[in-house]
Amino acid sequence: MTDPTDTRDTGPRVGTPLWAFLAGITVIGFTALVVAMLRLDAVLLVEMARTPLFWVLAVLVILGELRPVMVSSATAVGGTYPSTMFTFAVLLHLGLPVAVLMQAVAVTMNGIVTRRSWHRVMFNIAQSTLALTAAAVVLGTFGIVPSPAMPWMPTGAHLLPIALAGIAYFATRATLVSGAVALHERRSIMRVMKVTAGPQSLVYAGLLGLAPLVVVVMNHSPGLVPLFVAPLAAVYFTATLSMRRDHQAMHDELTGLPNRKMLIVSTEEALAEARQEERVGLFLLDLDRFKEVNDTMGHPVGDRLLQMVAHRLTHSVRPGDVVARLGGDEFAVLLPSIRDAHAAREVAARLRAALTEPVRLEGMTFDMDGSVGIALYPDHAPDFELLLQRADVAMYLAKEGRTGVELYQPDKDRNSPERLNLLGDLRRAIDNRELRLHYQPKVSLGTGTVQGVEALLRWRHPVRGPIAPSEFVPLAEQSYLMRQLTAYVLEAALEQAALWWHTGLRVQISINISARDLLGSALPEQLEVGLARYGLPPTAIQLEVTERILTGDQAYTQDTIKALATLGVPLALDDFGTGYSSLIRLQRLAVSEVKIDASFVRRIAESEDDARIVRSIVDLVRSLGLRSVAEGVESDEVAMRLAEMGCDVGQGWLFGRPLPAAEATIWLRDHSESGDEVEFGYQPEVSRSA
Ligand code: C2E
Ligand code: MG
Ligand code: MG
Repeated sequence: MTDPTDTRDTGPRVGTPLWAFLAGITVIGFTALVVAMLRLDAVLLVEMARTPLFWVLAVLVILGELRPVMVSSATAVGGTYPSTMFTFAVLLHLGLPVAVLMQAVAVTMNGIVTRRSWHRVMFNIAQSTLALTAAAVVLGTFGIVPSPAMPWMPTGAHLLPIALAGIAYFATRATLVSGAVALHERRSIMRVMKVTAGPQSLVYAGLLGLAPLVVVVMNHSPGLVPLFVAPLAAVYFTATLSMRRDHQAMHDELTGLPNRKMLIVSTEEALAEARQEERVGLFLLDLDRFKEVNDTMGHPVGDRLLQMVAHRLTHSVRPGDVVARLGGDEFAVLLPSIRDAHAAREVAARLRAALTEPVRLEGMTFDMDGSVGIALYPDHAPDFELLLQRADVAMYLAKEGRTGVELYQPDKDRNSPERLNLLGDLRRAIDNRELRLHYQPKVSLGTGTVQGVEALLRWRHPVRGPIAPSEFVPLAEQSYLMRQLTAYVLEAALEQAALWWHTGLRVQISINISARDLLGSALPEQLEVGLARYGLPPTAIQLEVTERILTGDQAYTQDTIKALATLGVPLALDDFGTGYSSLIRLQRLAVSEVKIDASFVRRIAESEDDARIVRSIVDLVRSLGLRSVAEGVESDEVAMRLAEMGCDVGQGWLFGRPLPAAEATIWLRDHSESGDEVEFGYQPEVSRSA
């Protein structure tokens, strides 16, 4: 939440409701100020100015006005000034005119020091004057009307009027500030109050509650009053600290934008507040080819670029809209109220236009672009999770079709309610680390040595029992979850690889990744960081991508594949034979291994056609200088025929089923030739010549 009065030099546009509100409050507040001043006896004031008490208080009020005790709730940040304690004390002891005068002087002085805009200073004077006036009126109804001539001394019998005056003071300030915020962000004032009032009231209770004690001490010995600075400082620092912590938990460090957590809170708020005739829009925005910049220019430049993007995005939306960073080069924009799909598209186009303005960095010009997916409430989804999911489907369409902006279209979404349920369960399973990796050996058909293992996901659903990866992986592939799933698998596999490699079992682990993982730029970086962290060489793992990536638009995937090749991580082409890849594409792709799909392999003993297909694939793969791996080898006969054909490696139940890590370790030790120090792994020449 931004401070609506903090519009610096410009201020709200003349004629807007916010302007009218601020102007109205300022006029009313200054009228109250003038009325109070008329009641001030100048002679008495001059007399008072000769007492040390007056100056002690004046200094404390001014100092207390310097910095607000920031209070933050999930979405709102509001300031409460420590001076409140002293102005309230002055109000109780010396009456309204002196209190508002001191307050006005303090606000003005600090406005000058901190170079706030004049209309902000005036609004602050007005609202604190009104709050003090409200408190004075409450005291007046109890017959308490202090003045410099007749200072008032509170006693234990006056707790009720003091409490009510404090409440009137707080209620006035909270209403005025929340009103401005509500108008600024086009939200209902009740909602704004709900999120701000709780934490604010605590700080106010602390500040106002001490005021009567200040008066008592003041009366006893003015010199002791500065001691109140100590508890005040304590309140100040704890509040600031907790606010900073809250802020960190809810914001992205690099860009300062709200993070996913905060986006969830804001979206849920927006959904609860949504008016009938309007929509809530959730955009997902992904930068295109950010990776290139990051790679060629280095991370510091990449970071600056992201900060720039964040800046541009936040300045392309209206106040009250939320721009969040979800991670990497992925951003989300929440529009709490938008008329219709057409208007949403317009905003999306504006965001893209802001992005495509060339960026100058380090003397170079970058042309940025991004793809935006739009989902609307209530048209497309009833809650945050689904909205994000659908914005993601749309974003994916925009990226694939290179259209830039896409609105969610149900007929292009293959997610049924059951699938979405499962997707939700999968997300929880990832969060709760319920997924396990099993490992299946790959064995040289010539020598019988182990060539590596393939990591395969296993999920035991708490209700439905085991669910096959062929059921949930394609589901995840169509959603933003894939990124998390792959990150999870990567982490688990690297951890296992480290366990094996650092105990002498140098076995290469193949990890399955999806074509979608190659669209983003996160994978190579994750791998690089992970390998370094576990002290592993790049050949400790291999990535398997299905042949289908060859059929899609390769412009995007090519970047990531290049980055992986640079890293030295070998790549295998999985399920070969099921797609329609051309030879040229196969050669262009930096793969070192081709895995022939089990659907052909299984039948080579019975069907001559399948045998011919497999043989020609094996020949083709060898002529390209690559290694061939047959999947789904279940019988000796199949293994023998494959060996005859010159296929390098076999994988299948004949050699070993996918095993949990502990059992796989035992299996690997049993099948290593000379105990601990055997090197498994990548040795295509050996197996080929054998
Ligand atoms: P894939 O990568 O082609 O994996 C080989 C599949 O064949 C595995 O199925 C494996 O259990 C199965 N298999 C191995 N030997 C035999 C055999 O002799 N006979 C038969 N009938 N099947 C055999 P699984 O584990 O059900 O995985 C299915 C697919 O799910 C995988 O196909 C892969 O595309 C995907 N997948 C599995 N784990 C992951 C993962 O961690 N990430 C991603 N992105 N995809 C995964
Ligand atoms: Mg595979
Ligand atoms: Mg396969």
